Amino acid sequence: MVKDLAKYLFALGILLACFIVVGVNKEQKSLYQFSGYTMGTSYDVQFVASPSSIDAQLVESNVAALLRRLDREVFSTYSENSELTALNETPVGTVFTASDDLIKVLQLSDEIRKLTLGAFDITVGPLVDLWGFGSESDLPFGQLPTQEEIRDAKSRMGAENLVINQAKMEIIKKKAIQIDLSAVAKGYSVDEVALLLDSLSLESYFIEVGGEIKMNGLKLNDEEWITAIETPSNESASIYQLLANRGKLFSIAGSGDYRNYFEVDGIRYSHEIDPRSGHPISHQLAAAFVISESAAEADALATAFMVLGLEESKLIIEDVNIPAFLITRKSNNQFESFVSSPFSSYLIN
Ligand code: ADP
Ligand code: MG
Repeated sequence: MVKDLAKYLFALGILLACFIVVGVNKEQKSLYQFSGYTMGTSYDVQFVASPSSIDAQLVESNVAALLRRLDREVFSTYSENSELTALNETPVGTVFTASDDLIKVLQLSDEIRKLTLGAFDITVGPLVDLWGFGSESDLPFGQLPTQEEIRDAKSRMGAENLVINQAKMEIIKKKAIQIDLSAVAKGYSVDEVALLLDSLSLESYFIEVGGEIKMNGLKLNDEEWITAIETPSNESASIYQLLANRGKLFSIAGSGDYRNYFEVDGIRYSHEIDPRSGHPISHQLAAAFVISESAAEADALATAFMVLGLEESKLIIEDVNIPAFLITRKSNNQFESFVSSPFSSYLIN
């Protein structure tokens, strides 16, 4: 018995000694960063890890491969070989068996469509093309579509005509609609990169695809990840508001009318299109930012809020308690912001 106890204490001693050695020699962590291009835009990934625990080159090539696959094989409407192109070419009434990625994004898009009373509509493609923002853009300079063309484009739309069976992974189109996931696929890619980094046990990262962001944990020396909301003006890049992640895991995505637009007779025509009117948005809301666990959800909601405008967006934001930051354009290039209370805790003054 005494001998057993001695053995036990000896073992415990060795164990404690090990912990102390590990503690003393605790390896310094490093900050890693890489970037590239996907979905017609850029991406940037940063993460913190101890050098011995990770092969940073492998992380970079795995992320690049994941983004390449999601773009070229799933969501691209430019790639002839993507799943979305195949779905768009599938005849009305024919069952299309979809991948997990596509089903999840279509299902989420449907939920956001319902929540935003049709403002978010992934079948907006004919209008996007008509107004000169799509892959088949051919709007002559200074010219606008006619009412008849708008009516015709609208008649080829309606995301409610997409029947999604998530359990069976099946989709059926009830009408010859074309699907455009530009307003949600970047956010979804951010979520998938985060899952990849989670699977490598990385707990501190900053992921950005085309401005849609996910942050987790703290950087070196317990610093927070910080991101900037820029002033929604095309004149010069400046910071409108900074926010910090407070060490938490969440996504922030934004949408604005000030980068991708054209002007005719002093009127701004932006690439966010109101499916109800068939026209590009025309109100004073210049940018919308949404925080969510899911970058895909934040991405889609930010676009939807841009379509809805300030007052209609506020009704949904307050009803469902969504963390949102909306910037309205006033005269003389001045701006005013609306911040919902769950968003405000991340702002840096
Ligand atoms: P960005 O983040 O680059 O501003 P968004 O995420 O706002 O882009 O998405 C804009 C794109 O979404 C447009 O270029 C168009 O393809 C598509 N889109 C435009 N209007 C809508 C809409 N009402 N619902 C869903 N998608 C839309
Ligand atoms: Mg969006």
